[in-house]
Amino acid sequence: MELVEGMLAGQELSLARLVTLVERESPEVPQIMKLIYPHLGRCYCIGITGSPGGGKSTMVDKLTALMRSKGYTVGIVAADPTSPFSGGAVLGDRVRMQQHYLDDGVFIRSMATRGSQGGLPTTIRGVIKLLDAFGKDFVLVETVGVGQTELDIVQSADTIIVVLVPGAGDGIQTMKAGLLEIADIFVVNKADYPGADNLRAELTMMLSLYPKQNSWEVPVLATQAVNNVGIEELYHHLELHRQWLEQTGELSSRRREQRRRELLNMVEQRFTAKLLGLIEREGQLASYLEKMERGEIDPYSASREILGSEGLLGGWSEELEKKRGLSST
Ligand code: GDP
Repeated sequence: MELVEGMLAGQELSLARLVTLVERESPEVPQIMKLIYPHLGRCYCIGITGSPGGGKSTMVDKLTALMRSKGYTVGIVAADPTSPFSGGAVLGDRVRMQQHYLDDGVFIRSMATRGSQGGLPTTIRGVIKLLDAFGKDFVLVETVGVGQTELDIVQSADTIIVVLVPGAGDGIQTMKAGLLEIADIFVVNKADYPGADNLRAELTMMLSLYPKQNSWEVPVLATQAVNNVGIEELYHHLELHRQWLEQTGELSSRRREQRRRELLNMVEQRFTAKLLGLIEREGQLASYLEKMERGEIDPYSASREILGSEGLLGGWSEELEKKRGLSST
């Protein structure tokens, strides 16, 4: 495929077109992914999550500037819960990153999460892969840490930064959202606000109550992203974490686990789509809905009948059995 060749040769325009194809879930995606697969695994992916307004974009912006000053190339993917637009054409409030738009070493895409279907983590993973194959040194993935989808996305990263702000009740929220378990680095941003020290102390205490299963000690840093304070230190801890991952073999096991999750997700997605297709085709859904409306059957029994030994899956599994029998003889 010409676009992939162009992208692998370093053409930014081909990269942008491929990203758009992946975002639109074009039928060409499997072919694209197949072609780029041998070129993956070189970039380092950093996930940044936290409540809206916490300063994530500002931090991504400052981190990017620092990485660029060190000569690294950067890709940025922002899962944007506020934007109803997809396709990355409208970046709305992402003006904070404007200075990087003119920089060839930085590629930025903002992807709408509002109204998006369950396929978003797959799409975002696809875009990360393109940036990886293109040869970016770092990919920064920014999400709002609220739902399962966002957690799924951020867990495609090698290092996960959780950004919190004082006075937002973030300490307790962190526990609720399951962010304590996934954070490799905590950052208390807006450290110019009162309460920053308290929040840091609270987080440090929480971490001591729920120690990780490994030897990495999650640091609790303080930054003022808007004033570019603490960004060097954050970068330093990113490097420390990366070294730790590499030296302990955690990086390979983390990536293996990501591949496993990704594969299972895809199988599940395809399986569900196929199954729903079959159910629809057989007209079963409509007839069961009618029966339910007439009060002749309840949803529990109906779902069992659809999938049970007498139902769709029963027949299907018999087919599979038959095929397996044929291939083994
Ligand atoms: P995001 O929604 O998490 O991406 O947050 P933004 O990066 O859009 O930041 C939200 C607002 O907080 C913006 O007006 C920033 O200028 C401001 N902001 C970011 N970092 C700091 C900081 O360290 N201190 C203060 N006072 N404001 C900040």
